[in-house]
Amino acid sequence: MISPGQASRLPLFFQELVRRSRWGDRDRPRNYRMPRANPASPPRPAVKDVNNLRITRALLAWFREHRRPLPWRASSDAYRVWISEVMLQQTQVATVIPYYQRFLKAFPTLRHLARAPLERVLQLWSGLGYYRRARQLHEASQIIVARFGGCFPATLEEALQLPGVGGYTAAAVLSIAYGVPLAALDGNVARVVSRLEALPGSLAQPAFRKGIEAKLAALLPKRQSAGSAGDFNQALMELGQTICLPRAPRCPVCPMRKACRGRLSGNPEAFPSPRPRRATEESHLAAALILRPVGVRRNSNPGSESGVPAMLMARGLDDGLMPDLWNFPSAFGASIADARQRLETKLADLTGGPASLNLEVARVRHNVTYRQIDVRVYRASLSSLPRNGFRWLAAADLGRAAVSQLARKIAEASASALN
Ligand code: SF4
Repeated sequence: MISPGQASRLPLFFQELVRRSRWGDRDRPRNYRMPRANPASPPRPAVKDVNNLRITRALLAWFREHRRPLPWRASSDAYRVWISEVMLQQTQVATVIPYYQRFLKAFPTLRHLARAPLERVLQLWSGLGYYRRARQLHEASQIIVARFGGCFPATLEEALQLPGVGGYTAAAVLSIAYGVPLAALDGNVARVVSRLEALPGSLAQPAFRKGIEAKLAALLPKRQSAGSAGDFNQALMELGQTICLPRAPRCPVCPMRKACRGRLSGNPEAFPSPRPRRATEESHLAAALILRPVGVRRNSNPGSESGVPAMLMARGLDDGLMPDLWNFPSAFGASIADARQRLETKLADLTGGPASLNLEVARVRHNVTYRQIDVRVYRASLSSLPRNGFRWLAAADLGRAAVSQLARKIAEASASALN
């Protein structure tokens, strides 16, 4: 260190250098310019950006190594991605795989789907549940052919115009098929991110959704070199399905464990907050087993041979449920006696003549969304046949028709009554 006495004995040029080296912010002359950083060098990223980049890299590296060879991952064709995303809504991967394969075999391209009759689409969907998805998929395919030249639209605005395509499906299809930088947010992804951030709440709460979206936007790869948005979305979904499970998440093998605040809290399962569940309701349903009378000509069903016992099926269940599917004529009621009475009235309206329910031949339990249905099946005889909206189906036809799962269960439980 140079003392003031020594400095005063230096040449003037060096005295100036020493003086400047002692300036604090307070006594720096007004017109003195500090040297500028080289404008060509990029600004240093904030620490939180570096952390986000590390999380994204770890996630993508894990996905490259552990991604499951699912059938819809064999191609990034937008049609195939779209079908898989719609089927996977509310449905487990293992359940979807055979349905997806059958569906793609029957409708290998979007134009095949658009040309197919709805009945055939519903038939292939039968058993997957939430049949509205199939109806909207079919309708959307026709819109895509008419308005978008048969290709799934490539912009968010256009994709959102399609029936059944919401923010999640649009982002998933556009990012995976076309590389559009959009984050797909569903319940699975929200669970992972809420644990990563230790953010309590549920997607129904705007503040929680905003927090999750902000974190997703920060994690989404900004440049192609950092990874694709499609892989990022699939990696988060995969992590939610295989590692960050709703119960007992497998934190020790998670690629995000070091950064995960939920894990560090010691109770990752506390995130997100549990959703208030709609209470289940016990419902009563009466169903009619009506066998084709001898001498009645067989209808146009290919598998329905005369001489084979065939059952009368009507469109829809009751209460607006399953409107496009074939079911045993049925009616809900406050009690089983009430359901039985309502069914008799319904059958009389359908045929224009009296109808009577006879012996109970089977009991079945079935769940549809929040309803737990107690089903009683009665043999029934009609004074005349309905004029329309029905068909005869033999047990062997059920696998080839757009029949509800409940109808299949009833047919199985009533098998002894068919002979
Ligand atoms: S560390 Fe655990 S809680 Fe956190 S994201 Fe991974 S699996 Fe989920």
